[in-house]
Amino acid sequence: MDAETLTRPAVLILLGPPGAGKGTQARMLEDKFGLVQLSTGDLLRAAVAAGTEAGLAAKAVMEAGELVSDEIVIAILRDRMAEPDCTKGVILDGFPRTTVQAKALDDLLATSGQKVSTAISLEVEDAEMVTRISGRYTCAMCGEGYHDTFKIPAVEGKCDNCGGTEFKRRADDNAETVAARLVAYHAQTAPLITYYDAQSVLKRTDAMGQIDDIARDLEEIVGAAMS
Ligand code: AMP
Repeated sequence: MDAETLTRPAVLILLGPPGAGKGTQARMLEDKFGLVQLSTGDLLRAAVAAGTEAGLAAKAVMEAGELVSDEIVIAILRDRMAEPDCTKGVILDGFPRTTVQAKALDDLLATSGQKVSTAISLEVEDAEMVTRISGRYTCAMCGEGYHDTFKIPAVEGKCDNCGGTEFKRRADDNAETVAARLVAYHAQTAPLITYYDAQSVLKRTDAMGQIDDIARDLEEIVGAAMS
């Protein structure tokens, strides 16, 4: 790595189907490495809740488990990346999801002499995803993720992270929508594995195991990417 590259903030990408653990792992990496997690899913849900023009256009598409238009998602991501905290380095969770988005990201980064540092593919089996997604929920206060079977709060009904007592489940975390989201993943997002492999920035990791084991593997990959 040359001296110039070393001074650039890291741009990490987590690739993987819905339920692979991108959000959970991105939050852990954010804490550990001082990166900013950018989830286009979270940004879109905030736009839907705020009733913005982009949110109104995205709502029905998200509920159907399909992909929101590249135009909307790229604009949202570009605005967020322009905020000052992103100079610390970012971990992208759920973006890019199409080749058009991946190219737009390359172009955006190129304007400041940056490149994608590493794209990590979380490799899982589809059958496992429906079980994982149907049991998941988050703290309404801080967004900490939980699961009915795999990760329950230490004290029932109380968030481990912030002590919040209200939790929420996503509208699109149901079996029918998950099936559509998996179809969208395989058709439109999985080709990005080849895209980043061709750029020699791809790392693959087995994401079928326990959250902590996966986190350890990811820390190793991200640590190496940032050293
Ligand atoms: P997620 O929270 O990443 O699972 O995203 C939830 C939903 O938001 C997806 O099923 C899509 O409808 C939409 N979405 C999130 N990120 C993108 C993206 N990069 N491109 C298109 N649609 C997206």
